[in-house]
Amino acid sequence: MNNNYIRIDNVESNTSADIKPVDIEAAKRNRSRLIIPLFLILIFMVVMSVYTSRQLKTVSVSNIKEIGEDRIQSVSAQLENYLYTTKSVTWVTADTVEFMARNGGTSDQILKYLTEESEKQSVQFDENYTGIYGYIKGEYIDGVGWEPPADYNPLERDWYITAKEARGETAIVPPYVDAQTGNVIISISRMLKNGKDVISMDVRLNYIQSLMDELKLKGKGYGFIVDDNGLIVAHEDEDKKGTLMDEIPHGEDFLHEIKRVGSGNFTYVQDGVKNIVFVNEIMDHWFVVITVSEKELYAETRSQMFVNIVICTVIFLMIAIFYYFGYKNEQDYARRMEEMKMEERKQEYETKMLKIEKDSADQANRAKSVFLANMSHEIRTPMNAIIGMDEMILRECNDENIKKYAKDIQSAGKTLLSIINDILDLSKIESGKMELVQVRYEFSSILNDIVNMTMNKAKSKGLKYNLEVDPNIPSVMFGDEIRIRQIILNLMNNAIKYTSEGSVSLSVSFDKVYRKLIVKVSDTGKGIKKEDLDILFNSFQRVDQTANRNIEGTGLGLNITKQLAEMMGGDVTVESEYGKGSVFTAELVQKVVDVTPIGDYTERLNDALDSSVDFEPTLLAPNAKILVVDDNEMNLMVISELLRVTQIKVTKASSGEQCIDILREDSFDVILLDQMMPGLSGTDTLKVIKDENLADATPIIALTADAIVGAKEIYLKEGFTDYLSKPIMYEELESTLLRYIDSEL
Ligand code: ADP
Repeated sequence: MNNNYIRIDNVESNTSADIKPVDIEAAKRNRSRLIIPLFLILIFMVVMSVYTSRQLKTVSVSNIKEIGEDRIQSVSAQLENYLYTTKSVTWVTADTVEFMARNGGTSDQILKYLTEESEKQSVQFDENYTGIYGYIKGEYIDGVGWEPPADYNPLERDWYITAKEARGETAIVPPYVDAQTGNVIISISRMLKNGKDVISMDVRLNYIQSLMDELKLKGKGYGFIVDDNGLIVAHEDEDKKGTLMDEIPHGEDFLHEIKRVGSGNFTYVQDGVKNIVFVNEIMDHWFVVITVSEKELYAETRSQMFVNIVICTVIFLMIAIFYYFGYKNEQDYARRMEEMKMEERKQEYETKMLKIEKDSADQANRAKSVFLANMSHEIRTPMNAIIGMDEMILRECNDENIKKYAKDIQSAGKTLLSIINDILDLSKIESGKMELVQVRYEFSSILNDIVNMTMNKAKSKGLKYNLEVDPNIPSVMFGDEIRIRQIILNLMNNAIKYTSEGSVSLSVSFDKVYRKLIVKVSDTGKGIKKEDLDILFNSFQRVDQTANRNIEGTGLGLNITKQLAEMMGGDVTVESEYGKGSVFTAELVQKVVDVTPIGDYTERLNDALDSSVDFEPTLLAPNAKILVVDDNEMNLMVISELLRVTQIKVTKASSGEQCIDILREDSFDVILLDQMMPGLSGTDTLKVIKDENLADATPIIALTADAIVGAKEIYLKEGFTDYLSKPIMYEELESTLLRYIDSEL
């Protein structure tokens, strides 16, 4: 038992040790299975979004640059075209005036020409045009008829000075405030070949200013036009028109950069703001400039990049969520599987435990059964001597008192034997060893035995004995004859035991539909209290102890009876009225071998009883020879004493070996061979006898203290002719021997 407990502990500790580390490892593995792929996807997403953002930026930068270049070129072209036209007009007018002056044209004629030309150009230049004028032959002439104030000195005006400095080239005078109109204008002047006269034309800056609208990138930033001296010719912010770059903050540095680059683009940081500047130098060292803050310019790109990142994040989150749920499902599934495995392991463990417990219980039961079987064997051997010797006293003693004692010994001995048999049966049933030994049997033979064993008992108690046997019971059936007899006998014995007056009745019938033998045993005895009916069939349970205190019993009979009936697919039930009597019904399923009805059994029984009144079978065979083999001296003596009345010659052998030696010399009519002997056992001895043909024609009867069911069949199978169980009752011995020895032999 201790070993079992140790094993159980081991199983327990193994189970928990098995599970925990595996769980932790599995959990770690599972977590990394979730994190690693997600981490890789995250890195991929980050790389993707950085890459696409960069691409986006590169594309948009080159786009912007292209647009910027285009825009600035287009505005430059328009501006150059405009300036070139104004220069051309001035140049042609100057040439014409020069020609007129050289060919004697008067001042009036020249004025007239200038007036006509002014009108003509006003159509071409629209509102930008203010008129053509000049300094011819020492006086100021104006094509639009403007009368200069008295202090107006043409020689000191920018248009005159610039033209003079340009030495015959057509020059553009930097913007200045027109004395006549107060507008910012530019003049285009040219000095004639005489080095004194100058023709000039004024153009307002409206047109150039209008180009500022085009100097924007995607509606962002602003443009301006500045000349070589830093004078702002046109500006998005019109207020700045006509001012010098020096006058605005950082303007000087800015101008410096513009001039350095000339044509192209550059980045210019001002007040911490990064600007992209596009610049193009056109004729007369004018610079067309677009400046736009990078932040503003790339705002769209940035928002595009932001959207890009958001999309990547959303995609990542979606992947993560799907992956997580997939992973979770997988985890749940794995967990369920793990739980199932745990459950299986638990069940395995429980099954193991149960098996261990069952094994140990079985072992204990087996030990108990073996113990009981041994005990019963051990008890039966001395009982053989007690009962045998007692039989001798009964036969030979003439003292009535001693005979009475001997009778008491005989009855107590029989009771003791039946108790031993009951205990043996119960231990077999409980250890599951009880097996039905099914044979062909005649039902009337069972009835004979029962009537023989109970009728006299009942009658000697003064009870009426009723027997009712259904004539339709099949005559031959297949089942455990011995156990059926035991069941009916037990119920009948109880009925007789617990009835002091009235009658006991045995009624037997057969249910053809369910193939059931129905045995009813009724009595007019003490009856059983209602509350006791339920516990009646429990083992060792005796009821109504006070009333039954003088009746011997162990409380095993009904339990065994019921269990045997259940093994036969039937049951034992009881109906009882306390003080009036009881009816026990046993239903036993039996196979039918011969359907021929048993007929009127009671009539046959009565006939037999009538004719056998004086019949006493006695064996007397002075010429017969019997060999009795038993290692127990006492048993040898009992048998030879029992057989004394038969005058049979008894030879005794105290071992198997001695038996064989004797048989080599002599022959016998019957051999009684004990089973349990030191040295050669009964079976071993039989084998030698058979092998050596020592007693071929002699019946060999097994003697054994094994009161087990089916013992008879076992011994017959081994080659014995018959079987007698110890303690040997004389009647049994005599009737057995009568089968093999003729009386009066
Ligand atoms: P026991 O060895 O005591 O007879 P049983 O198992 O045969 O054991 O019976 C159990 C108990 O049932 C008995 O002790 C007795 O009280 C009661 N009993 C059995 N048969 C009858 C009967 N025919 N009439 C009254 N009581 C009975």
